[in-house]
Amino acid sequence: MTPPESDREERIWIVGMKNDEIQAALHPIPYNIRIQHQTVNELTNALQHRPHEACLTLITQKAWAGMSKAQRRIVSTSEACRLVLMLEENDHHVRYDIEEIVSQQFICALRMPLTTDKLNTCLKKTREMLLMCDDLYNMANEIILERELLARKNEQLDFLNKILTKASKSLDPGTIISQAGRDLNILLEVTSIMGVFWNIDAPAFLSAEIFTPPNLDKQQGKEWVGYLLDQAERTTRHSIKTYHVESLEHDQTLFHEVGLPDQGNMIKLPMIWNDKTFGILFIVSPKAALLGRDRVKVLQAVGNHLALALRNALLYRRMQNQADHDGLTRINNRQNFEKQIVKELHRHQRYQHELSLLMLDLDHFKQINDKYGHLAGDMVLREVADILRNAIRDCDFPARYGGEEFVIILPHTEEKNAWILAERIRQEIAAHTFRYNDHSFQITACIGISSIKPRMLKPAEYLVSLADQALYKAKTSGRNMVCRSAPMQEHSCCVNDAR
Ligand code: GH3
Ligand code: MG
Ligand code: MG
Repeated sequence: MTPPESDREERIWIVGMKNDEIQAALHPIPYNIRIQHQTVNELTNALQHRPHEACLTLITQKAWAGMSKAQRRIVSTSEACRLVLMLEENDHHVRYDIEEIVSQQFICALRMPLTTDKLNTCLKKTREMLLMCDDLYNMANEIILERELLARKNEQLDFLNKILTKASKSLDPGTIISQAGRDLNILLEVTSIMGVFWNIDAPAFLSAEIFTPPNLDKQQGKEWVGYLLDQAERTTRHSIKTYHVESLEHDQTLFHEVGLPDQGNMIKLPMIWNDKTFGILFIVSPKAALLGRDRVKVLQAVGNHLALALRNALLYRRMQNQADHDGLTRINNRQNFEKQIVKELHRHQRYQHELSLLMLDLDHFKQINDKYGHLAGDMVLREVADILRNAIRDCDFPARYGGEEFVIILPHTEEKNAWILAERIRQEIAAHTFRYNDHSFQITACIGISSIKPRMLKPAEYLVSLADQALYKAKTSGRNMVCRSAPMQEHSCCVNDAR
């Protein structure tokens, strides 16, 4: 049990009084006080070499006045030494400068002659004083801690604000993901970032959009796409029916070697909107990162911010996609074709390359509708669009031009090669067996080709009109045929196919 404060033994050094003076003043010395007489030299020596021994030190005014500056400094800068000044007995007329006394680190003063009562009162006061000092010290520490926490919170808010501002500046999901990767580098070391997102409104027909780093080789790309699809399927508990992979823009500061998927060094940030997970961002670190609770919280907040921005960007892109694509065949629609042909003609003029256009019309398509029904006709249009999609290069641009008419823009393609492609498409359509309910049937198509050579300055209508003329020629020459068109003023020239 700890004794009461007043009963605890107190060690006291007295400087400036002789031993017998002390004995006479404090007779008998209280049981809980251990007095030690010290000279000025003994005091400074002890404080310098054995500072842990320091204790309550009573110094007479005379002794203090007789100390050199250096000695005073040793005494008043000793952290453990608590000083009490003993004022002269008969100097009531002298006015003391309290500030000066306090500035010398005296915590209390008592007037001579020294008595046990005065000493006890002084001890009580110093104890109270020290308790107060402790309280103040603790409070100051708490304030410092609070300030540090506040500063850290400010930093985090600043960081989140930065991420949100940048993320909401763009409506391109790829840009938002790359930017997030660069910003997250402040929080943890990021060597790469990628993501998979899916359409939450149609769980039975899930399609995914995958964003991969630009520096993956073929094998890595295959493994990562497989891994991301697997993660999406595990999260949604549905199979992904279609997916599209987009490579993020190259960025030296962000995309380093990622190797193959490895759970250990990856943080998965679920993208949640309206309580539904619509994607996952994968942040790859060079080594397994152990995050403190603080950083996990910031990361979650970053996730919420990014989810909002990415959700908007993905929706915007889907809406744009819908506006640009034909609802039945999912290839580009006529409006989109008209924008694209103008862009391609600009490029043709700037880079002086060849440009060709195919225009395709199904033969006797009306009969399919009449014979098997409109839905059978729709199915034929979808499958023809699939044949076109599979036959062309990534840079070619297929579109549904009208009812059963399609067009394909072929950049960097001279007439000879456009002819080869057109002929292949014609043959594939003719060889395809369409099945609807219990019926199976064939269909054929006519294709008109128009091409412009480098340095030919022509408007889009010119190219379209030539292709249309060639198509008309194919129709009137017997159908299931590819025709090319000679430039205006000359006669359209029909070339029979290889039948
Ligand atoms: P031709 O060989 O001269 O091209 O004869 P055709 O029957 O293919 O051409 P026509 O212009 O006489 O008929 C085209 C038909 O395509 C008429 C129209 O009802 C049908 N059609 C247009 N759009 C759609 C569609 O979205 N779905 C279906 N099922 N039919 C469509
Ligand atoms: Mg037709
Ligand atoms: Mg037609």
